[in-house]
Amino acid sequence: MADPRGFLKYRERELPANRPVAVRLRDFRDVHEHRDQASPFLKEQASRCMDCGIPFCHQGCPLGNIIPEWNDLVREGQWADAIDRLHATNNFPEFTGRVCPAPCEDACVLGINQPPVTIKNFEAEIIDEAYRRGLVTPQVPQRFTGKTVAIIGSGPAGLAAAQQLSRIGHTVAVYERDDAIGGLLRYGIPDFKLEKELIDRRIEQMRAEGTVFRTGVEVGRDISWNDLRDRYDAVVIATGATVPRELALPGRELAGVHYAMEYLVRSNRETSGRVVTDPINAAGKHVIVIGGGDTGSDCIGTALRQGAASVTNLAIGRELPHVRPDSEPWPTTPRLYEVSTSHEEGGERKFLASTVAYVGDENGHVRHLRVSKTQYLDDGRRVPTPGTEEDLPADLVLIAMGFTGPETSTMEGSLDLPVTTRKSFARNDGFATQVPGVFVAGDAGRGQSLIVWAIAEGRAAAASVDVYLRGRTELPAPVSAS
Ligand code: FAD
Repeated sequence: MADPRGFLKYRERELPANRPVAVRLRDFRDVHEHRDQASPFLKEQASRCMDCGIPFCHQGCPLGNIIPEWNDLVREGQWADAIDRLHATNNFPEFTGRVCPAPCEDACVLGINQPPVTIKNFEAEIIDEAYRRGLVTPQVPQRFTGKTVAIIGSGPAGLAAAQQLSRIGHTVAVYERDDAIGGLLRYGIPDFKLEKELIDRRIEQMRAEGTVFRTGVEVGRDISWNDLRDRYDAVVIATGATVPRELALPGRELAGVHYAMEYLVRSNRETSGRVVTDPINAAGKHVIVIGGGDTGSDCIGTALRQGAASVTNLAIGRELPHVRPDSEPWPTTPRLYEVSTSHEEGGERKFLASTVAYVGDENGHVRHLRVSKTQYLDDGRRVPTPGTEEDLPADLVLIAMGFTGPETSTMEGSLDLPVTTRKSFARNDGFATQVPGVFVAGDAGRGQSLIVWAIAEGRAAAASVDVYLRGRTELPAPVSAS
């Protein structure tokens, strides 16, 4: 039972401090100060939860996290119960507690007239404290079903599906083409947002539970999809949506123009001590990042840490408000009001900026980006405004304009999996494709989305696989694929 007057006593929203910008730009470690459950304000913050009769935070979270329950357990300092309740709906709160845009907080009822409860921070505090206390232990199955499942892709969707299926007693192997497990958590998202030790300690638990990991194996190249299907009783495709959206304008072929992921993956590999033979480094360069989402913001933070001469972030859209306006008292679009920690660190943001051309020097290297002011046409289209062109200095241009869908080329002549009009793998509400025993979870079916959705889909797909294999399931299915 929550403190019924807590939200009246503690009206301010308090979070652990971020490290000062000048300090954190010197390394790639977590931008947050060390978290500590003894923080004096933690229990006060937890008592701001009103334990609403209808807790909208549940619906706000794709995982259906039972938030008021663990808010109250934090308030009471009952960490063992808190992690039990949190793990009941979320396999990996260490990821969501750090990098989720927290749609639960947008849905928090207290947010109508006070800043919302610091739900995401509690998530991180609970799981960190659970690890410190040795409360995160392997949950080995009581008996094995004798059924085998291959999961392709080790991002949050694949990992969630694997953990659920291993714990219920199936024999699970995760195939990953990269040299390390984690999907975008590993080499997509920089360490300053998500340190990789967090992935490693979770993988250790999963190994102890029986999940087998096969890295450096690309399905469709090293083993055919058909062979894999024949070898296992069920297959879950969780290969992500990794095809980048192109910005094909004059000068695209110039040296120094890259997709954001070409840059981020190399930088993140370097941060983790891997040898990168063809690095892309921002040191001393004028960097322009085209696109204002998570990927763009991760490029900004990385370029600033590498010592870029300047960083400019272009967004074609209007600047979004960072505080909820009076005209919108109700929780609305998640992330409408967010400024990332990278944006706080420096660089310039230009809104309503349309790219017209990449301009190069005589050596074929990009030196400027020609941009123009965006205008909105009556039919909603956004186009460059003639006569407003300007050339911005640019030695490194990073295209961070989103992703169009999963890679499908390795499937040709193999599994017959149609794609939707949105270029994702087609599946029914229960994550099943038209090929018996083959399921799709995460960004591969949903399009580029969020970690919390990937975990929710992985959990739900696992329930469907279990029904397929055993005819019944006790596993939860927090979301459907529609
Ligand atoms: P992925 O994480 O993409 O994992 C797919 C895996 O499949 C990859 O490891 C890939 O190598 C592997 N694979 C693909 N094909 C094969 C094959 N044929 N054989 C073997 N392995 C294969 N979301 C948030 O919630 N918060 C954030 O702050 C955030 N930041 C982001 C920053 C960046 C730069 C990017 C690109 C995305 C970000 N996202 C963020 C989105 C989030 O990372 C994704 O929605 C999520 O990782 C999707 O999980 P997934 O398991 O579906 O796929």
